[in-house]
Amino acid sequence: MIMEIPIEIISDEKGYIDRECPHEECEFVFKVHIEDWKSKITEERVHCPRCGHTDLSDQWWTQQQIESMKEISMSWMKNQIQKSFDKSFKKMSHSSNKYIKIKYKPGKKITFENNPIGQQEKWELEIVCEKCGTRTSVIGTAFFCPCCGNNAIDRVFDESMNRIKEQLNSLNEMQEVLEEMFGKDTAKNMIQNMIETSLKEIISAFQKFAMECFNKGCTKKVRPNDFQIADKGSELFKKNYGLGYDEWLTSEEIDYLGVMFQRRHILEHNNGIVDDKYLRNSKDKAYNIGQRVVCKKDHVLRLLATITKLSEGISEVVRMK
Ligand SMILES: [Zn+2]
Ligand SMILES: [Zn+2]
Repeated sequence: MIMEIPIEIISDEKGYIDRECPHEECEFVFKVHIEDWKSKITEERVHCPRCGHTDLSDQWWTQQQIESMKEISMSWMKNQIQKSFDKSFKKMSHSSNKYIKIKYKPGKKITFENNPIGQQEKWELEIVCEKCGTRTSVIGTAFFCPCCGNNAIDRVFDESMNRIKEQLNSLNEMQEVLEEMFGKDTAKNMIQNMIETSLKEIISAFQKFAMECFNKGCTKKVRPNDFQIADKGSELFKKNYGLGYDEWLTSEEIDYLGVMFQRRHILEHNNGIVDDKYLRNSKDKAYNIGQRVVCKKDHVLRLLATITKLSEGISEVVRMK
């Protein structure tokens, strides 16, 4: 028997409903504007903003919504059972003969109320898809539009840069907390680790960003690694889009970028120890062979500012083409 129980889904104050990715390694919870969910999203295909998994539109209930629905259907069934119970007893009491007396007073009714399923408190970040206009809200980073699957590389890159900047700017507070938890030495190591990780993250986000931007208006095959060397990336844009990095950055800034790209490279592949190849590629005058590069917060913030400037230029030139 299939029963259809009407369940009303209401949105939060901003008009959004909660959704959850059905992919078992993801289970990312996000929000979609209820009007867009109804009018834009197709039954066949919804994209997870975090992992990109696609599934039918009825697969995106959150755990909380499933719980509420279970409760609603249980109380609905109880109500139905009670109703038929009442009916049959009434019939029996009418048909009682002189040997059997059945008296039945209907008990307290279990009433079924169509509980609206409430939503979680409104979230901060609201995203409007530049392609289809679907409105999404997430905590953290979203890569794909739930409706059309569009990956907004500009927005994702900006968000990563902002997140890294905030993280770097809160290092002092973080250090205090970590010192209390783990002691001075461990805290210092952890903070140092975070600074180096930020450097790596900025550069790998930029490489990905530069490659995707490049691919927007040019069919030439490129890889993220092509944007790991400042001169090479600049050359690629100059040849194919007419403008190179020197259009947006001073020569000092381009040199700084080159050094930081190389520092990231030895941090990743040589545990930060300066070698011959590093000195040749970076032209870094600050170190000799065998030393370990020092990665400071100010260095990374300066890199972040330079990369931000460069990425704005790249975005612009790709848009204009
Ligand atoms: Zn997912
Ligand atoms: Zn979209």
